[in-house]
Amino acid sequence: MRIGNGYDIHRLVPGRPLILGGQCLPHPDGLGLDGHSDADVLVHALMDALLGALALGDIGKYFPPEDPRWKGADSLVLLEQVMALVRQRGWSVVNLDAVVVAERPKLKPHIPAMQAAIAQRLGLEADQVGVKATTNERLGAEGREEGISCHAVALLQRP
Ligand code: MG
Repeated sequence: MRIGNGYDIHRLVPGRPLILGGQCLPHPDGLGLDGHSDADVLVHALMDALLGALALGDIGKYFPPEDPRWKGADSLVLLEQVMALVRQRGWSVVNLDAVVVAERPKLKPHIPAMQAAIAQRLGLEADQVGVKATTNERLGAEGREEGISCHAVALLQRP
């Protein structure tokens, strides 16, 4: 078995969609996450957890932000590519777990859709994809609503 962890943070800015777990969510102030791709911080943290479990580097190695191919990229498509690397090496996912740190909007109503979208892209059951949300109790960058971060772990097995 192998375990990997991943972390990511993106800035909240006006004029961008807020995409988390492949879902476009409404933000009360119309803010979204800034980034070269769709800035899906949850999916990025999961990708780094998967890569980390096999010591394959990080997402910047495979999808460098200066590469125009990844501009506006759907992060779920990038996640599929990371999963292909995992499968090519003979590993499968036991489970993934992530916690998104965001003051607003309330993420709880959207969590089942995020889990389903991620699980479907990876060929997993929804109960293999833990997605949780917490506020940062108004502390730090996430608490000041300057950004949204995510921490994730991935457990892999090889028969
Ligand atoms: Mg990122």
